[in-house]
Amino acid sequence: MAIATINPFTGLTEQEFAAHTDAEVDARIAAAQAAYETMRGTTYAQRAQWMRNAAQLLEDDVEHVARLITIEMGRPIKGARAEVLKSAKGLRYYADNAEQLLAPEQLADPSVVGASSAGTRYAPIGVILAVMPWNYPIWQVLRFAGPALMAGNAGLLKHASNVPQAALYLDTLFERGGFPVGAFHSLLIPASRVEGVLRDPRVKAATLTGSEPAGRSLASIAGSEVKHVVLELGGSDPFVVMPSADIDKAASVAVTARNQNNGQSCIAAKRFIVHTDVYDEFTRLFSERVAALSLGDPLDESTDVGPLATESGRDELEGQVADAVAKGAVVRVGGVVPDRDGWFYEPTVLEGITPEMRLHLEEAFGPVATVYRVANREEALALANGTTFGLSSAVWTNDAEEEDWFIRGLDAGAVFVNGMTASYPELPFGGVKDSGVGRELAAAGIREFCNLQTVWKG
Ligand code: NAP
Repeated sequence: MAIATINPFTGLTEQEFAAHTDAEVDARIAAAQAAYETMRGTTYAQRAQWMRNAAQLLEDDVEHVARLITIEMGRPIKGARAEVLKSAKGLRYYADNAEQLLAPEQLADPSVVGASSAGTRYAPIGVILAVMPWNYPIWQVLRFAGPALMAGNAGLLKHASNVPQAALYLDTLFERGGFPVGAFHSLLIPASRVEGVLRDPRVKAATLTGSEPAGRSLASIAGSEVKHVVLELGGSDPFVVMPSADIDKAASVAVTARNQNNGQSCIAAKRFIVHTDVYDEFTRLFSERVAALSLGDPLDESTDVGPLATESGRDELEGQVADAVAKGAVVRVGGVVPDRDGWFYEPTVLEGITPEMRLHLEEAFGPVATVYRVANREEALALANGTTFGLSSAVWTNDAEEEDWFIRGLDAGAVFVNGMTASYPELPFGGVKDSGVGRELAAAGIREFCNLQTVWKG
């Protein structure tokens, strides 16, 4: 895949970039290693100051960076701006909290291990490779970089090939904030060259956010090198609606949960599983509100849904819907590629999904919702858990016992009750099953790329 900005609204290539040569990649790994040696000797207070500077620079650059996001991957500008500001807030969170999240712990009674003192401390591990997707091109990267750098590591970013300008912006952000040169750099390389970087002995671990095949490939290479990985992969999150729920609110939140970022979110609600007693009401409200979304130029402030990021992504979605319709699914809203330039797909609601349809098991990475009717909570849970994914989930109910039953039964990295899944720096984020391994964000996230060092003193 060419490393290029191709505007999804026009389909036109705006700018192409040459990949880094092997010598350039080697120089960047060397710079990262040198920066790590410096960083491990710095205090949290020093790194926090640099991190706050980076957050401030990002806030100052909000309009420029938001426009880059919109032009490179089609996110409507309002959402792009919110992504930049959320990312800056995330950096500040780690500036403020890293020291406490990584505080050493001491055994209350060290004599039980024959010591005068004994406990653990979190030490950085070195240069970490981050392979990142285009769908939240700033937030996905910074939710890795904020904690990793505050822990004292250095980062190397291999960003998706269709967001090179985002990658180049991030390439200098931390250096501009004051971090040592090399503490965080982008590598402009195709996916085929990730293996060479990961096998480099100076690279100690890796994180990948993206598709399942990419995750499996990275993990197998890392496994053969005995290197730690965190994987944040796909999802097909269930959104369960039970009779005691506030149906009007559930229907409104469902529209956002499915269609935000043009439907290209790993944690988007994708399968709407609705109790038969409220099915007709929910589906009517949901469909009316999806039909009312405005499709258009993502730079226009009033646009709700822009084009999909890539032509191949749009074609894939079109194929999934066509397969479902050919096998008997009913199109309630949308279901077509609009007759216009750009990689648009109409926001869509489908009913009558059956197990032989691709959409039943595959992730739909675009504005396509599937709605299922279920007779009881057991059926709802079986459907919710009935995919290979397990990223997040949502359940709408006002029955406390039922709420607890779903929380205990859902095989997912998160359960959101009466709300939509979102990521927060304060809460761990990650999946089970084929949605990934490990966690990002919060204490669990920052500790992933640390050496939990046991210290025993006689
Ligand atoms: P993708 O093709 O896997 O790309 C993601 C990144 O991995 C890109 O930088 C890509 O580089 C690289 N890559 C692709 N194949 C690789 C390989 N074999 N080895 C090493 N690197 C490789 O993912 P996508 O389809 O663009 O992104 C959408 C997917 O990401 C969806 O499944 C979505 O659910 C998932 N996602 C998950 C999360 C989460 O937190 N769980 C968040 C966002 C997205 P190139 O661009 O150069 O190919």
